[in-house]
Amino acid sequence: MSRYAEVIVDLAAAQIDHVFTYRIPEGMALQPGQRVEVPFRAHTLEGFVVGLTDETNVDPAVIKDVIEPIEDYPVILPELIDLARWMQQRYHCCLVDGLRLMIPAQMRGGRVGIKRIEVATLLISGDELDEFVRRNRRAKKRLEVIDCLKQGPKPVPLLNSIAPGAAKKLSEMGVVRIESDDVRRVPYTGLSSTRQEDPVLVKAQADALDTLTEAADHGGGRFLIHGVTGSGKTEVYIRLVRHALQSGKGAIILVPEISLTPQMVDWFRARFGDNAAVLHSRLSAGERFDEWRRIRTGQAKVVIGARSAVFAPVSPLGAIIIDEEHESSYQAGGRPGYDAREIADWRCRRDGAVMLLGSATPSIATYMKCMPGVREVNRIRLIEMPRRINGQPLPEVEIIDMRDELVRGNKSIFSMRLVEGMTAALSEGRQVILFINRRGHSTFVSCRSCGYVERCAQCDVSMTYHQWDGLLHCHYCGSVRRPPDTCPVCGSRFIRYFGVGTQKVEEEVHRRFPGVATSRMDVDTTGTKDAHEKIISSFRQGQSQVLIGTQMIAKGLDFPNVTLVGIVAADLSLQVPDYRSVERTFQLITQVSGRAGRAEHPGRVILQTYDPEHYGIQLAARQDYRAFYLQEVKMRRRGLYPPFTVLARLLVSSKDEPDARSVAEEIAGRFNESLSAHDTWQSCVVQTRALEAPLKILRGEYRWQVFAKLYNRPEASDIVQEMERLGHVDHGGVRVELEVNPSAML
Ligand code: ADP
Ligand code: ZN
Ligand code: ZN
Repeated sequence: MSRYAEVIVDLAAAQIDHVFTYRIPEGMALQPGQRVEVPFRAHTLEGFVVGLTDETNVDPAVIKDVIEPIEDYPVILPELIDLARWMQQRYHCCLVDGLRLMIPAQMRGGRVGIKRIEVATLLISGDELDEFVRRNRRAKKRLEVIDCLKQGPKPVPLLNSIAPGAAKKLSEMGVVRIESDDVRRVPYTGLSSTRQEDPVLVKAQADALDTLTEAADHGGGRFLIHGVTGSGKTEVYIRLVRHALQSGKGAIILVPEISLTPQMVDWFRARFGDNAAVLHSRLSAGERFDEWRRIRTGQAKVVIGARSAVFAPVSPLGAIIIDEEHESSYQAGGRPGYDAREIADWRCRRDGAVMLLGSATPSIATYMKCMPGVREVNRIRLIEMPRRINGQPLPEVEIIDMRDELVRGNKSIFSMRLVEGMTAALSEGRQVILFINRRGHSTFVSCRSCGYVERCAQCDVSMTYHQWDGLLHCHYCGSVRRPPDTCPVCGSRFIRYFGVGTQKVEEEVHRRFPGVATSRMDVDTTGTKDAHEKIISSFRQGQSQVLIGTQMIAKGLDFPNVTLVGIVAADLSLQVPDYRSVERTFQLITQVSGRAGRAEHPGRVILQTYDPEHYGIQLAARQDYRAFYLQEVKMRRRGLYPPFTVLARLLVSSKDEPDARSVAEEIAGRFNESLSAHDTWQSCVVQTRALEAPLKILRGEYRWQVFAKLYNRPEASDIVQEMERLGHVDHGGVRVELEVNPSAML
């Protein structure tokens, strides 16, 4: 029995990365991973036991005793403690930041626990029961309760609704036993999860599965399934999970945003029944805790969930599957800013499991790792599924040049071809999806006559219109310009702030097609808990004919009756000031096109754009991923963007502008000294600068940044570590945060 516990205390705003030693009192047994209550300064705090020891350098006189364990089992598995340690290094965070991710947030502070309920069971039967009923024939209510209990045990609150206090009275009389029992709060009770038979795999699926199970039986491996929409990737996932279960292991399946993929949950439920647990942020605290506990106790070995489910206490792991791996939701913001794909990789390597990524449009960074020449340790093996299950061709994509529409006098947001297409589809009783790939609230300035877009001269990204000062800003370098009144290229006065919204599109549908029912899916209509599912299921049931939405509808939804997809303004997402904007546009167009013609009716896509020659638009319309990848990689290499480089910045914010500025300049000065002191570091740096952040003031704080662009070499990680160290020094109330390859540098 060890004498001391090494404890990480769970302080609310912990910037303390220190292990404290506590004495384990006589008679108390503790294991690493358990949570404990400990005295800390004048308070009692919760903490995680991360180690046990018999020796300590700490003065015995100051060592305090552990008060008590919070649970009687380790809530964190040993490998997940190791994972938190690894995250500490990798993501420059505190150990407690990692540990906290391993349990449902509500467990901390005891805000959720096992829900128990009293259950009554009838103890007598036959003659004894008849005799009892005879003797109590005047107690009508009591006999009603007895009647009810004849069918089996019943919850006491239910019996109390028939006759208050009767169950208790009956138990005192010795004819009923009352026990407390765990209640399980089940998410998604609304879905029909009838058990289903396995379909016979098509050849591409069978081949993929062979490769994966072979690896699973021989120490694991890393794979990417690049499969077009409708190629049957989900069935491969299901069979790989089944294989893991047959080998006595568990599996985790990640989906980008679970409320958008209730179908996937349904499929897994149907195939794995109670062995499947669901974890995601929209569950109630109780549901989440109960699901987590079923996983922790091994009752559920298959976990399906969003990003944070990658920390689920499944052990040992046979596979982690990440569907739609290109989605940005796998990258966590805040602290620690982890990438679920990296966590999956770590866990799979440790357990000798299979990591399987899947996508119709893999991220550039992932696909690059599939290329020959990548070092074996980093290499991902590529599995291709280029054909749809039902043999249907991918939908035809027709590019409409919106500049021509204007020339022809059509100022509407719908081209003539789109209106024709909609008229035809609706008259045949088919459904239509209209998609607006607008991200965030950024607006840009574009000419409707020639397609010209205001760009930053130094950065080649579009400038963003800021309402607060009426100026155009470059979100990369911070330069500012007045928006033009007429187009600098063609002189047209039709140059304006772009911002077609879903609402505007819906109004236009109602104007053009009176009487046609529409559904709209965007952040405004999906605020409530089940809103996504309701909109999706009502559209699937044909209660509306046109679904209008943002990228939310682009994900893996299967609507058999949709034959036309209209992409209202394909270039909107091209203009987002982010080096990934072309990649995102390509992904969105491909994904949303895949919604057309999934069943027996062939599908069609009409893609409206002001920039029809752009390689991202052209190649997305041809659905040629390989060509797109090669072109995009060329652009990234030329522009020195990730994955060829690492973009990192220390964001300095303060209520006082001179303070923010001087801290940024001071850090930059020290940073440059460190760089000069390391020969190998200097050659890794493309540029470093201290400058005002593009968003100069945010929530009343002035913002400066120390920015570094580094070649993606092993030294880059050391340099980022050095930036973290410089940021961590006390700057007297000025906040300094590190960001690495953030999705936007505002
Ligand atoms: P993806 O995820 O690759 O876009 P899905 O997994 O959604 O494709 O599969 C498309 C459709 O094909 C689904 O409706 C699925 O039920 C069906 N399907 C998958 N595999 C088979 C199979 N082997 N036999 C029959 N239908 C299948
Ligand atoms: Zn113009
Ligand atoms: Zn710029």
